[in-house]
Amino acid sequence: MELPLAYYGNSVLRKKTELIKDINDEIRQLVTDMIDTMRANDGIGLAAPQVHRSLALFITEVPIHVANDPDRWEAGPVRVFINPKIIAHSDERWNRGEGCLSIPGVYGEVLRPVCITVQAMDLEGNIFKEEFTWLAARAFMHENDHINGTLFIDRLSADHRKAIEPHLNEVKKKYSEKRR
Ligand SMILES: [Zn+2]
Repeated sequence: MELPLAYYGNSVLRKKTELIKDINDEIRQLVTDMIDTMRANDGIGLAAPQVHRSLALFITEVPIHVANDPDRWEAGPVRVFINPKIIAHSDERWNRGEGCLSIPGVYGEVLRPVCITVQAMDLEGNIFKEEFTWLAARAFMHENDHINGTLFIDRLSADHRKAIEPHLNEVKKKYSEKRR
């Protein structure tokens, strides 16, 4: 079931989330609904606060290159990250444009590490460590920011942030009546 999104201006997006202690039916249903919501909105990731739940949980579905063809992409696997944290990152960083389902129509270049090592729990309760690079690493960091109350617009240069301020105000105004 698709869930209503929380938009920029909603305080749930700025709250530090709570750790998940028990993976129960409610959490499993939430993940199923978050996958529906992410896909319905053409996202490659979605964090629990974006559907009004202040929990340390997010999902990603990052496209992957078709082998031997750098111009073609195919759907990647859905990944579930519970109580995630970044335990190491590369010094090498790269810039790329980002957007966010909670801030429609606003995009900006964000500098992030190329490579990260993370630890998280999966939906079966297994704690795992894994390395991610490039777009998969970027998607993880964008969503991981959400569960710490940070948005990609906080990471833009001061000039860029100033330039998009009118758009942010428009988003805030447009969706403030739809807040739950
Ligand atoms: Zn986002």
